[in-house]
Amino acid sequence: MPGRKDIAVKQSIPLHLRYSVQDFNREFPDDDACLMYIFEQRWPGGIAHCEKCKKETKHHRVTGRTAFACDRCGWHIYPLAGTIFEKSSTSLQKWFHAMYQMGSTRCGISAKQIQRETSVTYKTAWRMFKQIRSLLSDGDLQLEGPTVEMDETYIGGRLRIGSAGRRRMRNKTRVAGIVERKGKIVAKTATETGGKQLLDLAGAHILPESTVYTDEYMAYNNLADLKKDGKPLGYTHKRIHHASKIYVVGDVHTNTVEGFWSLLKRGIGGVYHSVSQKYLQTYLDEYTFRYNRRDQGNLIFKSILEQVSRRAVD
Ligand SMILES: [Zn+2]
Repeated sequence: MPGRKDIAVKQSIPLHLRYSVQDFNREFPDDDACLMYIFEQRWPGGIAHCEKCKKETKHHRVTGRTAFACDRCGWHIYPLAGTIFEKSSTSLQKWFHAMYQMGSTRCGISAKQIQRETSVTYKTAWRMFKQIRSLLSDGDLQLEGPTVEMDETYIGGRLRIGSAGRRRMRNKTRVAGIVERKGKIVAKTATETGGKQLLDLAGAHILPESTVYTDEYMAYNNLADLKKDGKPLGYTHKRIHHASKIYVVGDVHTNTVEGFWSLLKRGIGGVYHSVSQKYLQTYLDEYTFRYNRRDQGNLIFKSILEQVSRRAVD
């Protein structure tokens, strides 16, 4: 359910980045329009390599099928081949609508909401989201620095009330995040309780010579001496002592990454209720995908569409 804050965010989107439901319905009135969009994206101007002619030729739509035919020889090509849409009995327009919804929220969207708006079953809606989400990873994103924050948090799990009313969370999953201030974020599930995995993650995503802000957690002890392929990465490491209830000293804080954690937890807690460990990384991918494109307004939808249609055919 969009809260007041979401509505405020929507209203603050600049005009050229707004893409309303009306815009959606105008651009994608039916399955044909969706199919044409994917076709155009994959083969701009309808120019594709024809296996039979052995060269680039123009193609045209085959009526009543999801195929396009070579203008010269009639050989068929299928833009949905290998995509998540190919074997689905759900209409393309419903898929597009689900992606539109996914791109238009900050806090995530529930399968229940899609069920209501597109009249698919809850199970279908849930499966669509799962498949879309599975394609949203930003891969080995290299953060550009020069100032990044790194932090971990725990997600999911079930609250158990133990003896003497003590509350305990079971099966929580550790998540590590690195964010550039005013920039992009990387968030990964972390299985090790030791520091190696965190340091590896730092080395993989943070540019050499960056300044890295963390809390006092021991795992970060060797961050300043970290090497990659035998070469020192030259990080400047600054720490904030959360245990002594200090959160900001000048520039030294991890508020940016903590802001992302609260967005994520609000979304997963309020919309998805509980997320199994197995799928947590794909949820992280969905949230980071949106975060990393937050300057695109509602047009994030087009990025999702592009990635989902393209990823699948790779
Ligand atoms: Zn041909």
